[in-house]
Amino acid sequence: MINKEKSGKEQTIFGKEKNPSSIEPKKLTLDSHLKFRCHPGVRCFTACCGGIKIVLTPYDILMLAKRLEIPAHEFLEKYTVPTYLEKTDMPGVMIKLREDDKKCPFVTPEGCTVYTDRPTACRYYPVGMADFHEGGSRDSEGNELESAEEKFFFIVREDHCKGFEEDKEWTVREWRADQGVDVRDEMNREWLRLVMRRKSYGIQASLSEQAKRMFFMASTDLTTFRKFVFESSFLDTYEIDEETINKIKEDDVELMLFSFKYLAATLFGAQGLEVKPEKVKEKMARMKIEQGETVKKSIKDFEDLKTATAKAKADTGVVE
Ligand code: SF4
Ligand code: SF4
Repeated sequence: MINKEKSGKEQTIFGKEKNPSSIEPKKLTLDSHLKFRCHPGVRCFTACCGGIKIVLTPYDILMLAKRLEIPAHEFLEKYTVPTYLEKTDMPGVMIKLREDDKKCPFVTPEGCTVYTDRPTACRYYPVGMADFHEGGSRDSEGNELESAEEKFFFIVREDHCKGFEEDKEWTVREWRADQGVDVRDEMNREWLRLVMRRKSYGIQASLSEQAKRMFFMASTDLTTFRKFVFESSFLDTYEIDEETINKIKEDDVELMLFSFKYLAATLFGAQGLEVKPEKVKEKMARMKIEQGETVKKSIKDFEDLKTATAKAKADTGVVE
């Protein structure tokens, strides 16, 4: 039903299975076949909904909060705990397991109570997909020149999972469509790219606290992000056409996709969101004044130092 934590190591929706023994060492394509079925009749039903780490994407959060008819902040508070994404310093959330049995709060003996809106991670098993970005090429600003999206798939076969003993056969393509993975991948793509881009920069480059807070807010709480867009100086700062403004005012998915663009531009300097020319001019003028003041202050500090040194020499009778 879902990806399962193995041997104390994390497994998230982004990376590869960390326990190599569960991965079948065979590259699959969309047309490859697999035999699998998960249904309430299997002996292990819901066994994989506990002791796990389920990282949520922005789209997962949006869909689950809608499903439960609660605002995002309430969903985050009740059902999630903070985590870091893909061993980067980018903050995200994962599902908070129940205290008593360490199971997902949405599982019952009858199955998943949010099944049609279950998170991306729960849809992947048992067909994993290779990382989105490995290789490829980018220009000096980090924009993609050559796609690195070599997709391939692999089977994750866990010992306790009896789904493999069932007779139902699918192609990978059919399985993914049935699980709604294609739609999720589409919705998660740009956000995952941000995380993978951050990961590729390594730990040497760190994000400012403000950038992390912005990433977290835009990735987890679209209501607050919408307020930020419409109730701050945001629209005075960025060039955004009327059509986009109208779309993101009402449509949460459009707003989410827009937030990915905003994050890509502000965190990584990607193209796609331009600052208004007058704002650039204003900023340059401000920087000039600030620079002027810094230079003036340095000159004054230097003069003060010279005076202090001369005085110290005079006081101690030192002659050069
Ligand atoms: S068949 Fe596999 S995926 Fe389905 S409930 Fe059992 S362990 Fe989970
Ligand atoms: S969301 Fe549903 S499918 Fe996913 S772990 Fe929880 S109960 Fe299982």
